[in-house]
Amino acid sequence: MAKITKILTDRGILTMKINPINSTNQYRQNDVSFNGGLPRKIVCFGPPASGKGTQTSRLSNELGLPHIDMGSLLRAVISSGSEEGQLAKSFIEKGQLVPTKLIARIIENTLASAKCKDGYILDGFPRNLEQASLLDKINQRIEAGKKAIFQAINFEVSPKLLLERIVNRRSCPECGEIYNLKFKVPKSENECDICHVHLKQRADDTAEIAQARFRTYDEQTAPLIDYYRQQGTLSSIDANGSIEEVWHNLTKAIKR
Ligand code: AMP
Repeated sequence: MAKITKILTDRGILTMKINPINSTNQYRQNDVSFNGGLPRKIVCFGPPASGKGTQTSRLSNELGLPHIDMGSLLRAVISSGSEEGQLAKSFIEKGQLVPTKLIARIIENTLASAKCKDGYILDGFPRNLEQASLLDKINQRIEAGKKAIFQAINFEVSPKLLLERIVNRRSCPECGEIYNLKFKVPKSENECDICHVHLKQRADDTAEIAQARFRTYDEQTAPLIDYYRQQGTLSSIDANGSIEEVWHNLTKAIKR
């Protein structure tokens, strides 16, 4: 396995992956992780099943930053059986957004926690203009005048492909690994390659709820494209291809 080494340079902290076989004279600079020593905040948004989950969890490993996935946080609140969970469930099963008041309580605590001090990768938040403005305010409060790198990544996928991805998506209830019965097939039928437990389909991954989720995206989330374009923080990536192709497009956008 490659060894991770951090070096302080005049441009900040450079993270390198050292190849153990030729470690004396060969190393690969892992240039997506060059952060100039500043906290790095990356927001990923796109329509349902645009592949954000798969790519952001890989990016989180690569950059060593926490992956904050709002959909999973909400599903955990639902599993806790609390009143808030019941409320969230009633919106999720209709393909609608959970009220920002509830989302705000979850996100404010998470982003202010010590694990986010070097930055974060946000997946599924913000999802409308109200949440984008809330995020700006939280960041201003946390940064308290200090600098940070902020990037918003918009995942672009053709609507036809999205539906095919949604209805074939399965995930492991133990480790959260995401599979697709057409595009990322598990080695054994309907079983997680890592945990060997039965894969599950999300309750809102049906064709009917997907249509409502697409409408919610068009009406509420798509306006984020203009919001972040005007802020000068937007990169749009082609997310139609294979996992490797999209990863290539994502890392290219992150390096800009
Ligand atoms: P996801 O796992 O990202 O596809 O999210 C699943 C569902 O959780 C969405 O369809 C929404 O109902 C809800 N949800 C996730 N993130 C948010 C958010 N930032 N604001 C409101 N609702 C959300």
